[in-house]
Amino acid sequence: MIIVMSRQATPIQVKAVTDRIREVGLRPEVSAGEDRSVIGVIGGNAYAYREAFSHLPGIQEIVQITKPFKLASRELQPRDTVVDVAGVPVGGDEVVVMAGPCSVEDEAMLLRTAEFVCAQGARILRGGAFKPRTSPYSFQGLGETGLKMLAAVREATGLRVVSEVVTPADVELVARYVDMLQVGTRNMQNYALLQEVGRSGRPVLLKRGMSSTVEEWLLAAEYILSHGNREVVLCERGIRTFETSTRFTLDLNSVPLVRELSHLPVVVDPSQGTGRWSLVRPMSLAAVAAGAQGLIVEVHPRPDEALSDGAQSLDFENFGRLMRELRCLLEATTSQPV
Ligand code: PEP
Ligand code: MN
Repeated sequence: MIIVMSRQATPIQVKAVTDRIREVGLRPEVSAGEDRSVIGVIGGNAYAYREAFSHLPGIQEIVQITKPFKLASRELQPRDTVVDVAGVPVGGDEVVVMAGPCSVEDEAMLLRTAEFVCAQGARILRGGAFKPRTSPYSFQGLGETGLKMLAAVREATGLRVVSEVVTPADVELVARYVDMLQVGTRNMQNYALLQEVGRSGRPVLLKRGMSSTVEEWLLAAEYILSHGNREVVLCERGIRTFETSTRFTLDLNSVPLVRELSHLPVVVDPSQGTGRWSLVRPMSLAAVAAGAQGLIVEVHPRPDEALSDGAQSLDFENFGRLMRELRCLLEATTSQPV
């Protein structure tokens, strides 16, 4: 349930409502909008308590949230959330490009890649130090050594850094080195991990589970939000379908759909989503045209030598082309109609 305060409601009236919510054993989540506050009332069967608030001044209306996710829903917060990744806003007017290798392999290669993607306009460097690989015999990542390389390259270039965390015990370690924690597709329903990143105080990039519905994905976001972390960026990265000619099927329906259902920013990963470098550029443009507020793209100086995901990684030339075309697309779509 949400309690919509009137425009004239005073801070004291808002406080009286949040106090009453706690008195009846529920939890308030205040979302202060530009012209009014909206208070989410969290707890089982909250709507049954609506009469407990009817006498309080400053309330405009009490609305039942119809979706199973509450804090993530547009019903609770009509305006877009802008996530602050160490000074880089994700979900605002700018389409934010995150780029870099699938895995951190060595510092020289990471620095070269970072300098190139930064010069092309990327704002955030990606690179896995802990890799959740389907096979236990595949490269598992450099661990803390890789995180140190990311931190060093962050200092050298000014790029922000996103990297994956695969287990709750490592959240504190990874959060020490990076600006945004990535929760991968294989961990979207790892509820212990979601709770831990919810307590981490770092922005979270939450990939969609490859076999998850949009509702399950938003409920995973709800775990993070309900543990006190409002800084969640959703990432569509493709789902399993009967189609086998691409690695996954990049579900771009979800982009405008999630933007209707939720106030959280949505970005797209066309690298995992297609599995083929030649499809990454067109699907990136399609994602942004569909409303994606950012992209996360794998880039490698020598994709044929990459330790993971070389087949879906762009070389420098193709990443440069993508950025040029993205700029043209943005100019075309954000220009005023004549
Ligand atoms: C990745 O970004 O390299 C990755 C492993 O992503 P996902 O969890 O979407 O497969
Ligand atoms: Mn990858």
